[in-house]
Formats: sequence, C-alpha cells, structure tokens
Amino acid sequence: RAKAEGRQRWAVFDDLLRRDAVLLLDLEVDLRRALARGEFVPYYQPITRLSDGATVGYEALVRWLHPQRGVLEPGQFLAVAEDNGSAEAMDWMVFERVAAEARQLLGDSGFVSINLSARHFRSSGLTARLLALLGRHDIAPERLRIEVTERVLLDNPDEFKRTLAELREQGIAVSLDDFGTGYSSLSYLHQYPLQALKIDRSFVIALDDGEAGNGYAVIRTIQALASTLGMSVIAEGIEDSVQNDLLLKLGCPYGQGYLYGRPQPLSTWISAPPANVVWMKPAR
Ligand code: C2E
Ligand code: MG
Ligand code: MG
Ligand code: MG
Repeated sequence: RAKAEGRQRWAVFDDLLRRDAVLLLDLEVDLRRALARGEFVPYYQPITRLSDGATVGYEALVRWLHPQRGVLEPGQFLAVAEDNGSAEAMDWMVFERVAAEARQLLGDSGFVSINLSARHFRSSGLTARLLALLGRHDIAPERLRIEVTERVLLDNPDEFKRTLAELREQGIAVSLDDFGTGYSSLSYLHQYPLQALKIDRSFVIALDDGEAGNGYAVIRTIQALASTLGMSVIAEGIEDSVQNDLLLKLGCPYGQGYLYGRPQPLSTWISAPPANVVWMKPAR
C-alpha cells in the first residue's frame, strides 16, 4: 500500500512538472496572441509631491488583460516576454495607449512616465519613434518621461550618454529606476543628464527601522548625491504614514506608493481622481 501511495505521489509530482512546462509553452503562445489582440494596457500610479500631496504626474505600468486569467502584473509575464523578444512590441502597444490617453489623464499639466527595459532603451531609433508617436497624438515631449534601470549603464555607457543627450535635446526626461539596487558606479553618475533618481522600494521599507536605521541613512545619502548632481528624487513604494513622515523629514520631494494610490486604469482615475489633487485633475 505504501508503495502504491509512493507511486501515486510521484505521479502527481511528475504531473506538476509537466504542467509547468505546458504553462510556459502556453504563456509564449499566449503572449503572441495577446500582442495580436491588443491585451496589454497601461495602468497609472500617481506620483505625488510629498510636501502638499499634489499629484504631479503618473507612472504607466503595463497590465495584461488576459481573457481567462484576469489582470496580470509584469511579474507574471515580463521576464518571458523579454526572453522571447515580444517585450518591445508589448512596450509600444502600451506607449500607444499612453499617448492616446495622456490628454485625458493629465489635463493641462503634469507628466506621464513610461518604463523601458535596458535592451529596449538601447535599440536604435528610439527617440525618433517616440517623437513620431507624440506628434501623432499632439502631445508635447515635455509631458513624457522615461524610466530605465541602472542596467543600461552596464554594457555601453557612451551609447547611453548619447541616447540621453538626444532625448533631452528633444525635451524627453529620463529617470533612473530602482536606484541603489543596481551596479551603477556613483563616480560616473555625474556624466549623465538624468532628471531624477527613483529610490528603490527596499530602502523605503527599511525606513521601518526608524531614523537610526540603514534605510534612513541610505536615503539621506541618495538625496545628497542627487542634489549635488542637480537631479530630483522620487521615493517608490510608500505604503504608510510612518514612512511618509520620515521621507518628509528627510526633505524627499516626490514619492509614489499605495498610500497615495495603486496603479489603476484611466477610467478609474477619471471617475475617482487621486486624493489631495492640488493643481492637477484628470479631465472628464
Ligand atoms: P517599477 O518601474 O519599479 O515599478 C514599481 C512597481 O512597484 C510596480 O509594480 C508598482 O505597482 C509597484 N508598487 C508601487 N507602489 C507600491 C507600494 O506601495 N507597495 C508595493 N508593494 N508595490 C508598489 P508592477 O506594476 O508589478 O511593475 C513591476 C515592474 O515591471 C516595474 O517596476 C517595471 O520595471 C516593469 N514594467 C512595468 N510596466 C512596464 C512596461 O510597460 N514596459 C516595461 N518594459 N517594463 C515595465
Ligand atoms: Mg518604473
Ligand atoms: Mg522602480
Ligand atoms: Mg522595479
């Protein structure tokens, strides 16, 4: 009987492995179908000026509206999309929608940030393609910002510098995402015309240790660095008022997180604008 049970358990295990392989295959087939059907859409999270709670812009974050599995987050598909080469097409599907919705989302002021994988940022013709997209939707380049992680600095810093200069010349600002988690050499940072450093959520979580903790010290250091370099700072992942108060105390100018709003589609922001909007309302 024990033997039969063992075999049965093995059969279950084996079945699970097979199911994983099938799921991965499904995902790849699904991704292609999703691109054809236009299932990738942006959700928007408010970016807030901490001193007065004003919404100054939004970050667009991709969601996959999967017909069977519901709303999927990047953690559930982005790595596979990047591996199999569909990430770029997915990005452009999202950017198209962002440009089409920007006027309604932003009204007359504020910006919307989009995320680009490091590889995509290095692809040729990025600036021209973005400008064409903005032009088609009659959106000023100053309304768009780009977020990219420190990984872009790894391979080809000179190329990064060129692309940054090109974007900047056209009025599109670039921020460094997940700052502090990557490999960027601080000594080189001054060479890049970046608009802002986005403090990774892990340091905001570490604020729970209070003013004597590492999170507080790291954030203070990042702020000093940013101010020396003439860059702005945005703290990511603010979930509670204790973190928020410490960031205020540190003089951190901008932040985003569940405390201020979760990522939501345009329709949600139109019917229920973010709390504390001081000078910016999504237009109806
Ligand atoms: P990210 O750009 O660093 O975005 C911040 C992530 O933190 C988002 O996860 C956001 O939903 C989440 N977040 C915001 N506030 C809080 C909070 O208070 N608590 C917690 N626990 N999480 C918070 P999301 O939407 O799952 O996106 C994950 C990553 O996927 C993004 O990290 C970005 O690197 C990438 N990504 C998102 N959209 C796109 C896109 O359109 N294209 C590309 N290539 N990558 C994207
Ligand atoms: Mg981002
Ligand atoms: Mg980030
Ligand atoms: Mg991230």
